[in-house]
Amino acid sequence: MRKKKELISLIVPCYNEQEALPIFYEEASKVLATMNVDYEFVMVDDGSKDDTFRILKQLSEKDEHVRYISFSRNFGKEAAMYAGFCHAKGDYVAVMDADMQDPPALLPQMLEILEGGEYDSVATRRVTRKGESKVRSFFARMFYKIINMISDAEIVDGARDFRLMRREMVDAIVSMSEYNRFSKGIFGWIGFRTYWLPFENVERVAGTTKWSFWGLFRYAISGIINFSEFPLEVASGFGITMTIIAFVMLVFIIVRKLLFGDPVAGWASTMCVIIFIGGIQLLCLGIMGQYIGKTYMETKKRPQYIVARTNIEKNANKG
Ligand code: UDP
Ligand code: MG
Repeated sequence: MRKKKELISLIVPCYNEQEALPIFYEEASKVLATMNVDYEFVMVDDGSKDDTFRILKQLSEKDEHVRYISFSRNFGKEAAMYAGFCHAKGDYVAVMDADMQDPPALLPQMLEILEGGEYDSVATRRVTRKGESKVRSFFARMFYKIINMISDAEIVDGARDFRLMRREMVDAIVSMSEYNRFSKGIFGWIGFRTYWLPFENVERVAGTTKWSFWGLFRYAISGIINFSEFPLEVASGFGITMTIIAFVMLVFIIVRKLLFGDPVAGWASTMCVIIFIGGIQLLCLGIMGQYIGKTYMETKKRPQYIVARTNIEKNANKG
């Protein structure tokens, strides 16, 4: 028997989750009640436009385990998770989606693994993508292949943000206060020993996905830019290759002129070369621009999120 019950914090980012949230709350509470732990919910209302906030408020009035933070507008899931990490007090902390795609039933097993003492976090990974569109799965797979090839943070295909972590790991995440956040990269970058728990994909219980294809695409690009300088190296590589080719061509043209005179020909090929080089230059400028844009946002040091309402006492924690 443990002496003092340990505290588990469940961080739940919610954006327009009025249908799914009550179901999640019921299920998660049921599972937590069977575990020999104290628990708190840190529910983050990410500027929802529906009744999510009202539901949170009601839940917090009838159940003292429910803490909520409500943002002044929609800041995105990354910001919501960060706010959760800053305010969670647990010895163990988990992030869970409100739509039941992260099954609460896995929690007891995850806790058991951590209590074994060998691991610092238990992460979950979908082994199937059942119920997801083919196109989306294809691009998701490509993204994981590319980012693992070119970045120094290890990112597992199918990894979800759902993981249970020890306090030390949470403190490390909170210390990474960068503005452009990509949690899967951050989890990988900080290290620690992680146990991977595979599970079958579960479809969302209610409501609709908050990610458009375009939104996911931009998130993927920003993930790559945040955790890799490889695109910059490619840009430099283009530059060097082009310079060498140009030099060889110059020598060729001079030699030809000296040996055979200068017949006027090759207008079409000249145009091709000009357009090709112009294209590559623009591409490289664009890549550079991405990094400069990120740097610009980082240097502003804007807060990741703005809290409008919360029932968590001020100064209880940093953040
Ligand atoms: N979410 C959020 N802010 C956003 C978008 C999503 O807090 O701007 C939350 C959402 O409420 C859910 C989780 O992030 O709890 C995952 O979103 P969703 O289920 O829509 O993504 P999917 O599972 O389809 O990738
Ligand atoms: Mg979901």
